Amino acid sequence: MNKFLKFLNLTKDWILEQIFPSKAKCLFCETDVPDFDNMPFCEHCLESNILNEGTRCKFCDVPILDGNQVCDFCASKHKHFTKATCPFVYQTQVRRAILKLKEDHALYLVSDLAKIMVKRISEENFKFDYIIPVPVHEKTKKRRGYNQAELLAKEISALTGKPMLSDLVIKYRMTKSQKFLSYEERQRNLKDSFSLTDKNFVKDKSFLIVDDVITTCATVNIVAMLLKKSKAKEIYVTAIARNPLKKKK
Ligand SMILES: [Zn+2]
Ligand SMILES: [Zn+2]
Repeated sequence: MNKFLKFLNLTKDWILEQIFPSKAKCLFCETDVPDFDNMPFCEHCLESNILNEGTRCKFCDVPILDGNQVCDFCASKHKHFTKATCPFVYQTQVRRAILKLKEDHALYLVSDLAKIMVKRISEENFKFDYIIPVPVHEKTKKRRGYNQAELLAKEISALTGKPMLSDLVIKYRMTKSQKFLSYEERQRNLKDSFSLTDKNFVKDKSFLIVDDVITTCATVNIVAMLLKKSKAKEIYVTAIARNPLKKKK
C-alpha cells in the first residue's frame, strides 16, 4: 500500500473511532460489549478460552494440562528469570488483535491491555525497580514507527510509577524470523543480537521485562540472561499473551 492510501486508511479509522469509540467494543473481535470497564471483551471471546487461567507452569505461565506444576521447558532449560505472567492465551482472537497492534497501528489497544497486565502483575506480587521493554532493531522500529513492547512498557510504567528504561538493552543485530524455529535454534539465532548499554547500573536491581507475546521464552530469556550476568537481583516477565507449548514430537 502506498503512503497516501495508508494515510487515508488511518484517517478513516480515526473518523470512525470518533463516531464509534472502540472503548465499547471487545478488544479482540470488536463486538459491542455492555460493561467495557469491568470486562473489555465479549462473551464469545471469553468462551473461546482467551484467558490464561487454570493450571499453569509456576515459572513461565504456560497452560499445562498434565497436572504438573512446572512445564517441560522450565524443567529442562536454564531460565534466567524468576517468573512470568501473561493474562491471555495466544489463540485465534488474541493473535489477531496482537497482530493488529504489531503490524497495523492498532495503538488504541495499548492502554487497556496494559491495564490488564498490571492487574496480573500486582496479583502475582512482582516487586521490581525498573521496566524494560524487549527491544527491536532500529530498522524494525523505523519501518513500523514504534515498538509495541515499548508502548506497553510505557503504559505499565505510568500505571505502576516504576521508570521504564528503553535504552538499557538494545538489539543491534537483525535476527531471522523466529516463527518456524525450535527453542535451540531461536537461542542460537538470538545470541549476540542483544546487548546491555550500562552493565554497572544493573547490579542489585530488579527488573520487569515486557513483551507482546511469549512464544518459547527464548527472547525474554536472553534479555534476562544479560541482566543476570551483570548481577541483577530479580527478573520478572510479562506479556499480553502466552503461546501454549507445542506437543513433543
Ligand atoms: Zn470478542
Ligand atoms: Zn514453564
